[in-house]
Amino acid sequence: MFSLRKIIFQLFIALIIGFAVSFFAFLINRNISVVSHQQASIKNISIPSSNNDSLTIPKHINLFDFYKTYGQRLLGNENLKIINREEWGVNNNIYQTENCSLNNYDVENNFSPLEKIKAQILINNYQRNFQDYDAMFLQTKTLTNQVTYEYLPIEEIVIHHTAGKFTTDFEESKKELQRIYNLHLIRGYQDIGYHFLIDGAGRIYEGSLGGKYSVGAHTYYHNKGTIAIALMGDFRSGHDVFTPEMENSLINLIQYLIQEYHFDTSSKAFYLRKPDFSGREWSNNLIKGHQELDIVPNTPTSCPGINPQTLRNKIYPFIFK
Ligand SMILES: [Zn+2]
Repeated sequence: MFSLRKIIFQLFIALIIGFAVSFFAFLINRNISVVSHQQASIKNISIPSSNNDSLTIPKHINLFDFYKTYGQRLLGNENLKIINREEWGVNNNIYQTENCSLNNYDVENNFSPLEKIKAQILINNYQRNFQDYDAMFLQTKTLTNQVTYEYLPIEEIVIHHTAGKFTTDFEESKKELQRIYNLHLIRGYQDIGYHFLIDGAGRIYEGSLGGKYSVGAHTYYHNKGTIAIALMGDFRSGHDVFTPEMENSLINLIQYLIQEYHFDTSSKAFYLRKPDFSGREWSNNLIKGHQELDIVPNTPTSCPGINPQTLRNKIYPFIFK
């Protein structure tokens, strides 16, 4: 069981490390600024505050809640039904299906030369700017399915589509969920990569067993600090229709998540990681579409099919009042 003493101890350690890292960054900065200003003016040496903003904890994140509740399953409440894994009949024992093979789906194996360069820049930027931050908070937990999940403070929500079957019938949806789960295992993920999925009738399903704050598997190098919600179907124009039921459930689910994660949404601007990890930026894109985090800005994935700004326009009136 989780004891209060342990939480306080971990918070204390995180604070100490935070101070140490900030102080170190300050010292480095100070030296650089002294050198670069020497020629301009010996007398008037200005020392800027630390510009390693990547180590700043965004203020909408509730760290106390993170240490207190990471790993808890989010199964809805009296106003919001989330169909849990047992209810949709997840089968952990199927590792093969007829139509999937690893070679077809291993994203890194399929990178073009340009994508390989972009991926390397992304990885370098991540290592330079966010690796230490994540290492400071990282927690792990091994759950009943023997999978060890990683946990980090959540910064934003990413919306996907499954680009699979659009289903409104519960039995069909259950089959489709199992197909997606198998596909993700074949891709080498430990569990279904999304945290939540929504079918055409607006039913909301629990995805990963990891629970609150778990690191999913859904967006290249952007799995840390993000929640993934997948709309079941293909919502590019001319394909499946994004139904009012789905839209309604998406809004309700996001409202519920903002409550559960105790996100501070009093400001509409959030201090988020830049999509290329080159630092942080003030942005109102707390809710993003997968395509906005994709590594190739010129030819991004079409996921989630619907324009992310269109989705934000529908969702924001309900979360920013
Ligand atoms: Zn996606």
